[in-house]
Amino acid sequence: MRSRRRMYSAVMRFFLKCLRLGQRRRFWLTRQVEQLWLYGRLCLRSLLYNSFADGDTALDALFEPIYWLVDHVTRWFGVVFVALVITLTSSVVVIVYVCLIPLILQTYPIAWVFWHIIYGHWNLVMIVFHYYMAITTQPGYPPQQSKSDVAAVSICRKCIAPKPARTHHCSICNRCVLKMDHHCPWLNNCVGHFNHRYFFSFMLFMTMGCIYSSVSGWDMFWEAYAAIETYSQTPPPTFSFRQRAFHKSVVYAWVLCSSVALALGALMLWHSVLITRGETSIERHINRKERKRLQWKGKVFRNPYSYGPLGNWKVFLGVERHRHWVTRVLLPSTHPPYGSGLSWDTAPCVAEQKTPLLAI
Ligand SMILES: [Zn+2]
Ligand SMILES: [Zn+2]
Repeated sequence: MRSRRRMYSAVMRFFLKCLRLGQRRRFWLTRQVEQLWLYGRLCLRSLLYNSFADGDTALDALFEPIYWLVDHVTRWFGVVFVALVITLTSSVVVIVYVCLIPLILQTYPIAWVFWHIIYGHWNLVMIVFHYYMAITTQPGYPPQQSKSDVAAVSICRKCIAPKPARTHHCSICNRCVLKMDHHCPWLNNCVGHFNHRYFFSFMLFMTMGCIYSSVSGWDMFWEAYAAIETYSQTPPPTFSFRQRAFHKSVVYAWVLCSSVALALGALMLWHSVLITRGETSIERHINRKERKRLQWKGKVFRNPYSYGPLGNWKVFLGVERHRHWVTRVLLPSTHPPYGSGLSWDTAPCVAEQKTPLLAI
């Protein structure tokens, strides 16, 4: 009986010992896992630590894949859009040369022939020149290294480089652009300090060309449209293939020109308002907010880059003398814009008129 009890207590002791050992081992294992977790977390934090990290950075990081997709799709679309502009413009030019000019030469009085030939070709040259210059001229980029002549007003978070006044980061070009207006998919290029004038002149001359074509082709359009309406009549009219192609080409060219005249004309007028105010499209939003903020404080906002309506146009178009209205505005000109785009001093052509007004 006693030996059985002794054996029982020995088994129990052994069992308890095993239990304690298991507990100790489990405790040791838990400690190890916990330490490993703490070490990993510390390691990750020290690697990713950034004193500028905040909610905005986290959101930016979360949306980064979407931004990447949009930027790359827009970049790819840019090539398609440029090809579309060239194809559509060329199609209208071909229709004019093949269908309309022979008709004008045969039927119009000599004065009208001269007008159409001279005006039409001047307008075409201005469109082609400004579009070519707008897509091939770089908008202007700030230097990557800090330079003494760069009056930086902030640091770009994406380029980690000084950002001069009026410079903004384009997420599609993935770099900062001097006096950035917007990224234009129709040019597949950013509109900035060095190509802003080409962009605007292209819009202006394209709108003028489309209005000219729509107005002068009005009668021809209605005649061709009326002829197309008779196609479904019985008995069918006896138009040849050439005549049918002529009717359809005239209607196509007129509808395209009048649609572009309306859409591009509206955009051109909006940009004219911005240029008159001495603002870019981006500054329009910034200045509106600033105007409201200062108004709330009982102060008046004044655009520091505005030289008055006429002064703004002179600076924008590079008109320094009276003859420049003809040689630099009405004729193709490659003159550079005033200033480097890095700092904004008063241009000499407006210096005597008005000095820039600062926010007060
Ligand atoms: Zn940047
Ligand atoms: Zn861009």
